[in-house]
Amino acid sequence: MWKPNAMDTSEQLFARALQLIPGGVNSPVRAFRSVGRTPFYTAAARGCRLRTVEGKELVDYVLTWGPAIFGHDDPEIRAAVQTAIGNGLGFGTNHAAEIRMAELLRDSVPVLEKVRMTNSGTEATMSAVRLARGFTGRHKIIKFAGCFHGHVDALLVKAGSGALTFGHPDSAGVTPGAAADTLVLPYNDIAALDAAFAAARVSGEAIAAVILEPYPGNIGLLFPVPGFLELLREQCTEHGAVLIFDEVMTGFRLSLQGTMGLHPVRPDLVCLGKIIGGGLPVGAFGGRADIMDKLAPLGPVYQSGTFCGHPVTLAAGIAALEKLRRDNPYPALALAGKTLAAAATEAAQAKGVPLQLHQCGAMFTLFFSARPVLNYEDVLASDATLFKRIFQFALDRGVFLPPSPYESAFLSTAHDAAAIAQTAEVLASAIKAL
Ligand SMILES: *Cc1c(COP(=O)(O)O)cnc(C)c1O
Repeated sequence: MWKPNAMDTSEQLFARALQLIPGGVNSPVRAFRSVGRTPFYTAAARGCRLRTVEGKELVDYVLTWGPAIFGHDDPEIRAAVQTAIGNGLGFGTNHAAEIRMAELLRDSVPVLEKVRMTNSGTEATMSAVRLARGFTGRHKIIKFAGCFHGHVDALLVKAGSGALTFGHPDSAGVTPGAAADTLVLPYNDIAALDAAFAAARVSGEAIAAVILEPYPGNIGLLFPVPGFLELLREQCTEHGAVLIFDEVMTGFRLSLQGTMGLHPVRPDLVCLGKIIGGGLPVGAFGGRADIMDKLAPLGPVYQSGTFCGHPVTLAAGIAALEKLRRDNPYPALALAGKTLAAAATEAAQAKGVPLQLHQCGAMFTLFFSARPVLNYEDVLASDATLFKRIFQFALDRGVFLPPSPYESAFLSTAHDAAAIAQTAEVLASAIKAL
């Protein structure tokens, strides 16, 4: 069995990685470039903490970028995986857990009448967009600036997350053809939305789908202004466009129903991922049965995958979803989020630092800005250098915030009172030290 050399430091490992892996990383934000640090290497993850190869313990607010809502290495999920592995490492055939997973998703997520599993959130959004185009027989789609839907060609236009962090919201290598049918609108802009649908009616270039993160979390956490999602629903219905909620991040994180537990607007299709895999790679998309039944083998829209519905992934995901339904951790998570938000806000007021703290349940973001942050432009206008200083200060004191000003921080049920108190203190001190 391969064993890491116990003497290797993070610096040494990163130097080796740089020789072989582009940028030293298998996903760009892990490079820590926008926060001016060499990335650390993790040896183990338990509860709310990561342990680095140097043996340093960090309270983790990245949580594998969202999935670890019970913290790392949850014993119930691990036991479910061990049981599943006892039956083999994969089947490539149907198995009963697929139905259990579909039932759990249907029972929590409104509008989800039928569902398909994928291996990642990217596959889910890619498939949902293709399905919407196949269903409507139209080409044009609308996305919103700063919303991130994975690295699907047609959706890497004004994208958030790492694409934005590294200054490539429009990726090289996306052909004009792949992006030509993507219209990008400003999030939260009711007038622009009205105008886009009006223009589509006049030009006859009908819109197949609108895809968005209803509560964007990949440019930091944003909230919909009153009326925005309502108008979107109204326009999609009137125009015959498929409304797709990308809840890969917010699904089972903000509530069992995702954003739909907080907001009355309902999409036609919803994309899921992250939490529903219990820590293993996963995605899913589902929604109205009349749309989903256009998928092969029933209909003409092709979508497939060697590992889709993998038994080990589903065992982990089912354990996670059953635990969420049984424990309802959301009120406690929200309370912890509010404690951290209050500590940071108070410190900012005392120091006279302009801070817009966005928090909802187990997600929060610090925007250093004097004006409200409603969209992509507002996010870019906030002070990223102040965030960088907070990140570095916190990391030196054992608190790992997302290594980018454009990512949301996540809380887990494993963040106990001691971890929250430590973090509140560190955040307040970091702000006072600015
Ligand atoms: C993470 C994320 C994706 C992409 O999921 P992957 O599993 O990384 O492919 C898509 N949409 C949103 C909203 C996400 O947060």
